[in-house]
Amino acid sequence: MKEFDLIGRYFSNSGHKRKDVVIGIGDDCAVTTVPENQQLAVTTDTLVSGVHFLNNAPAKSVAYKAVAVNLSDLAAMGAEPAWISLSLSLPEVDETWLDDFAAGLYELTQYYSVELIGGDTVKGPMALTITAQGFIPPGSELTRSNAKPGDWVYVTGTLGDAGAGLDILKNALNVSGEAKDVLINRHYFPTPRVAVGTAIRRIATSCIDISDGLLSDLKHILKASECGAKIHVDRLPLSRALTSAVSPEQAIEYALSAGDDYELIFTVGEEQRGSLETSLASTNVKATCIGQLTGQAGVLSLMHNNEKFTPQNPSGYEHSF
Ligand code: ADP
Ligand code: MG
Repeated sequence: MKEFDLIGRYFSNSGHKRKDVVIGIGDDCAVTTVPENQQLAVTTDTLVSGVHFLNNAPAKSVAYKAVAVNLSDLAAMGAEPAWISLSLSLPEVDETWLDDFAAGLYELTQYYSVELIGGDTVKGPMALTITAQGFIPPGSELTRSNAKPGDWVYVTGTLGDAGAGLDILKNALNVSGEAKDVLINRHYFPTPRVAVGTAIRRIATSCIDISDGLLSDLKHILKASECGAKIHVDRLPLSRALTSAVSPEQAIEYALSAGDDYELIFTVGEEQRGSLETSLASTNVKATCIGQLTGQAGVLSLMHNNEKFTPQNPSGYEHSF
């Protein structure tokens, strides 16, 4: 167990330091201060090797993705990230692997001014659990349950890239050149939409991040808000990389059903659409309106050039490797 004790210390010397951390790594607990007039948002995600990331995934990506998916949950709630803790299970101590892992972790913590405040390190099958905590002003949390019929449905960024990237890595899709690198990168290094989450928290009526695929995750909003939706698949934002790599039909399938994009889906009432544009301008992230909510609870209808559209995989993404 001695060398695993060392790993705890391995993570304690670098990274971003925050004023609201009274005691960070090194004692029995971390002690932090929540600013006055803020609520604490807390989320946890576990990534298991071979289930949530490929067994041969680069160490940098493993750490980056584990942090990103947690920050993405905070973003989907409208929270500003503050602290993370890391529970790491490793089969062995591999210093090269750990160096790359730490680099991936600190790249995101530096960028978002988040501090790693503690964790645990054990010997076991490769898996990691991150808990992330952030702040939300009282009453401004973005839930799944407050959307109303008539609200417009938006998504950030582009959809389907991470799913295509995974298929390339699994040799299920053959792509070459720059598009291949872009798509694989989107799988290995997802961007949590933190700035968008905080920018829309007094504007959007609901929000969720896309971990399982657009259709699957939109359904969570529809269920919680007791609404239906009409989505125009010809309006889905697709990257040049994806459209150059696959047929238009395949691109739509990836965008609807592939997981791991970590873009946000959010809804906005008609009267707030102007404010939305102003707020998003400062984030430099594009959001695309892809449809509208309806009063037909639970009914998700897809349209393609104003005709009914049936996807090949309507259930959304399920873990398949
Ligand atoms: P304890 O016996 O109290 O659980 P540990 O030896 O597990 O202490 O950890 C020592 C310190 O290092 C603690 O402050 C703990 O939070 C931190 N730590 C251990 N593992 C990690 C890790 N993977 N990432 C960040 N901090 C860690
Ligand atoms: Mg411990």
